[in-house]
Amino acid sequence: MELSKENPIPLAVETRALTKKYKKKIAVNQMNMQVPEGAIYGFIGRNGAGKSTTLKMLCGLAHPTEGEISLYGKPSHSPLAARRIGCLIESAGIYPNLTARQNMIMKSKCIGLTDEKKADDLLTLTGLSPAEPKKAKTFSMGMKQRLGIALALLGNPDLLILDEPINGLDPKGVREIRQLILKLNQEGKTFLISSHILGELSKISTHYGIIQNGNLVEQLEREELERNCEDYFFIQVDDPRRALALIQEYRPDIRAEAEDGSTLHLYGLQEGGTMNRYLIENRIQVYASGFHHMDLEEYFLARMDGAGATEQRKETKSHV
Ligand code: ATP
Repeated sequence: MELSKENPIPLAVETRALTKKYKKKIAVNQMNMQVPEGAIYGFIGRNGAGKSTTLKMLCGLAHPTEGEISLYGKPSHSPLAARRIGCLIESAGIYPNLTARQNMIMKSKCIGLTDEKKADDLLTLTGLSPAEPKKAKTFSMGMKQRLGIALALLGNPDLLILDEPINGLDPKGVREIRQLILKLNQEGKTFLISSHILGELSKISTHYGIIQNGNLVEQLEREELERNCEDYFFIQVDDPRRALALIQEYRPDIRAEAEDGSTLHLYGLQEGGTMNRYLIENRIQVYASGFHHMDLEEYFLARMDGAGATEQRKETKSHV
């Protein structure tokens, strides 16, 4: 993803050589991250990869050792930039002895807001009751996450930075938070979300950043990911040798390989139906065919662990 000088898409977040060292440990190393305005940017990495440290620096909760951060084109320490972002980082900012509503009112006052109804509306929006009498210290993880998101939304920020927002939520809660994120994104908010729950991220992200050992190893858009994951068309036939010869004659521009006693893999084919018809017309029995898609998890593992991780491949078969 090339989003620097040449690219006109305005950036909500841009970091240059952002680095954080804890004594000798380099938690984040020379990171150049670009989050376009309007994106849902999925920030993926294993435990300890440096996600929280990066997000803490973006939210002003940790000082970079080196490098620069700009938010909406302004240095992150400028009050104008800070006002445009809302953060959910761990349980930071939640007062344990206050109820959800009291937490909301407390933060509202701190940032100069007086409309208590807005606070109540945000609690309702995130699935919490303003009338809930429990103190935050007794909340489940899921309730804490919801309160954290409601707090992050106070002040109507343009950019929401959420560290593992679906941690601890049950499947219904995950779906609700996903729908909330999508709704807010459609209304124009940009999201930077870290998660190790890759399947969930892939349902909503428009952009991805993959971090490994403090290094941003790849940034890509959803369309690029889909292209990268769609790597071959497989076709299971009765006579693979003859099918291979027919394919090579019909489409010399694509690469075809025999995979096992009955399956061929075709690389570079955009559409499969015509190939199926051609083989059937030439008296080849086609038992199954389809595009193989690496899912996000496979793709991620391949980036994290090297090529060996792609061995367990999933094939989306369409039987003919
Ligand atoms: P997780 O999801 O487990 O929190 P993460 O990707 O968010 O993982 P970080 O919490 O950013 O990773 O940690 C990155 C590295 O920096 C880890 O090796 C961690 O042990 C180290 N680290 C984080 N915070 C500190 C700290 N305050 N002091 C020393 N080392 C730290």
